[in-house]
Amino acid sequence: DYGPAPEGNAEVKAWLARHKGNFGHFIDGQFARPGTGFATKNPATGDVLATVTQGTVGDVDAAVKAARRAQPKWARLPGHARAKYLYALARLIQKHSRLLAVLETMDNGKPIREARDIDIPLVARHFYYHAGLAQLMDSEMPGMAPHGVCGAVIPWNFPLLMLAWKVAPALAAGNTVVLKPAEYTPLTALLFAEITREAGLPKGVLNIVTGDGETGAALVAHPGVDKIAFTGSTPVGRAIRRATAGTGKALTLELGGKSPYIVFDDADIDSAIEGLVDAIWFNQGQVCCAGSRLLVQEGIAERFHDRLKRRMDGLRIGDPLDKCIDVGAVVDPVQLATITDMVNGSEGEVYHAKTPLPGQGCFYPPTLITGLGTASRLMQEEIFGPVLVSMTFRTPQEAVDLANNTRFGLAASLWTENINLALDIAPKIRAGVVWVNATNLFDAAAGFGGVRESGFGREGGWEGLLTYLKPAAAAKPIKRVAA
Ligand code: NAD
Repeated sequence: DYGPAPEGNAEVKAWLARHKGNFGHFIDGQFARPGTGFATKNPATGDVLATVTQGTVGDVDAAVKAARRAQPKWARLPGHARAKYLYALARLIQKHSRLLAVLETMDNGKPIREARDIDIPLVARHFYYHAGLAQLMDSEMPGMAPHGVCGAVIPWNFPLLMLAWKVAPALAAGNTVVLKPAEYTPLTALLFAEITREAGLPKGVLNIVTGDGETGAALVAHPGVDKIAFTGSTPVGRAIRRATAGTGKALTLELGGKSPYIVFDDADIDSAIEGLVDAIWFNQGQVCCAGSRLLVQEGIAERFHDRLKRRMDGLRIGDPLDKCIDVGAVVDPVQLATITDMVNGSEGEVYHAKTPLPGQGCFYPPTLITGLGTASRLMQEEIFGPVLVSMTFRTPQEAVDLANNTRFGLAASLWTENINLALDIAPKIRAGVVWVNATNLFDAAAGFGGVRESGFGREGGWEGLLTYLKPAAAAKPIKRVAA
């Protein structure tokens, strides 16, 4: 049974105790002795969960060397042999799903319902899907070869899922990996490292170095890394693009967003309201493709906002381990302070849900802000918290113009009962994905990624796998036959 248990789940406690609450990096198939590091905390309680090691340039070097040693043999395995390991990982993720879900919730603050029903099942799905692709590699991708060693740098909002999005395709394609998890949420990656041992994954195929942005920068800069896959903020993505320019390293960037959520006056309002709850309050709005910018047609705007406020007041916020909770904790006090400052500095009309907040922990109420100008900071910048900004439009063309009035282009949702309108509008929106009468639909088989300042490259599907491959250098010479 999951919570409510603010002190956490016994299984998680036992796992942390087995490691004495102190973790070294995972290099060459084993945990190194813990070094100087930092604490990772439960944001709902403020309790320290464990201490992890701050990765140095030397640690990154050791991990990259281990990955280099392991790579040729891993790449030479037939695709079906690599698939066996990926299938084993998928099955073990399912076996340990409860432990993974509770640990993710405790380290990140997301509601256990989300970790249990969304994050962890999608992680398993990614490994199953890419096991399938690994089997097809030899027959379907004959002229292609892996890059070699991939450096993966990931954010804290979906810690294990972001790991899966990178590790599963990289391994399927024959690369080996050095991964740096986010500093706020390193624990499920370390548990995953343990799971790779249970799966018998050859040593050095996956290595994990914990640490902050400096460790990430050392990984990006390492000359032994052939490809960087980054998910995180646009400013850091920009810095990584600069750092890799001229190095010949392959690069994919999955960055931030300010995705529009467009409601036309003929939409099914009940569904559009429920969709919006999912779009902006799923994972406390800390979602790259969160529907954080509501655009609602003028004729229904007042009614829609009233209904929305009533729905917001009914959202339950509190202990993320409680299965009945809708909104959990924000990841860290620093993130909470950023959200608070951004909202307090807003010139708009701010509505906070009347739902009671817990007395302690990093909680922020579901919030709606209206009356902002199109160029205002909160209309343009990613808040990355449970805060929705709203604006009205009159005509479909105005909806398109407002939707595209952003530097980002990750996702969009549009809601209408008129299929012709949906088919007309969807292709005019500049975004990696446009959902119609839906939001936050993900699958391992569907490439996900952005345009403009939301980055480039796709994760998932064949397009995602291709970013872990390059044309084989030593293709067999073509035997010419005299005419
Ligand atoms: P962040 O950019 O601050 O950090 C991301 C990772 O990069 C962390 O592991 C961090 O330690 C590391 N890092 C920081 N500075 C670095 C540097 N100079 N060189 C190398 N690595 C460095 O982002 P965050 O706050 O952890 O995550 C939130 C952001 O991620 C949001 O902007 C969100 O939109 C984005 N995101 C995008 C997607 C997507 O698929 N497009 C998915 C999830 C999150």
